[in-house]
Amino acid sequence: MIKKQRITLWEIKHSPNKETAYLIFKLNETFEFKEGQFLMIEKEINGKKIKRAYSIANTFLDSVKTWEIHFFVKRTSEEWLSHFLTQKIGFWDFVDISWPYGSATNDFQIDNYLLISIGSWCACTIPIYQKIVFEEMKYNKICTLFGEKTFEYIVQKNKDTFAKEVKNAKNMFFLSREKTLENQPTKSGILEIEKWHISDGLSRAMNFLDTSQVKVFVCGKPEMVDQVSKTLIENYLIDKQNIKFEKY
Ligand SMILES: Cc1cc2nc3c(=O)[nH]c(=O)nc-3n(C[C@H](O)[C@H](O)[C@H](O)COP(=O)(O)OP(=O)(O)OC[C@H]3O[C@@H](n4cnc5c(N)ncnc54)[C@H](O)[C@@H]3O)c2cc1C
Repeated sequence: MIKKQRITLWEIKHSPNKETAYLIFKLNETFEFKEGQFLMIEKEINGKKIKRAYSIANTFLDSVKTWEIHFFVKRTSEEWLSHFLTQKIGFWDFVDISWPYGSATNDFQIDNYLLISIGSWCACTIPIYQKIVFEEMKYNKICTLFGEKTFEYIVQKNKDTFAKEVKNAKNMFFLSREKTLENQPTKSGILEIEKWHISDGLSRAMNFLDTSQVKVFVCGKPEMVDQVSKTLIENYLIDKQNIKFEKY
């Protein structure tokens, strides 16, 4: 049975260019989900009911403790849901959610991880990273690769999560169109900045992990997910079964 509830906006933080938003909604009731899953957000916009999928960006444990549900949304339309959620929504505005969907969740037995995402798809990898590194603390090595055009599109929460200095973790940001390519000091640590694209970081990630026994989560546009998966299988001998993805 599909479950539904109406939730209200509690906090919103934008990227410097306001194209991406990190949204925190208060829940009326908590519900079970796995990190990496998504739900449907529904809202009436211009007299039309619009329903779209969004990945849940906080961990289950966090949602139970805070009664919150978090999302990263990037504006991709001039008038529909991503426009509303990034440009128009205000404090205490509501949306309807139904949940949860998706199978890009962590149910492997291996403890080396590679998490790859671009843009607002970080909503998939951030809760998985937080659960593994800060809640369960059961891993051998973990590497994350995140790609965006420039810093202007990135919300602070994303930088803070991956800048935290953590034992046996390597996190890299790939900014394909950024002029400033120096590593960035943040409140929680140094953020490692790279030029070009995520695919250029795969060899460095695999050198760091130093094994083909790796669980991979890759979230992004279909062509990126397919290309990255193919490279990992063919060049780094990663078992296809160990690659989970969300693409749209
Ligand atoms: C499983 C799943 C999880 C998702 N999780 C998120 C998420 O966490 N955050 C998020 O921002 N979006 C996510 N999306 C995309 C989201 O569901 C909407 O499609 C998106 O926000 C656009 O909705 P819209 O109503 O504004 O515009 P629409 O009318 O749906 O689309 C407007 C235009 O933008 C294009 N478009 C849609 N999505 C994207 C995109 N991501 N990148 C580039 N172009 C796009 C469409 O092809 C169309 O041309 C997810 C989609 C799926 C299927």
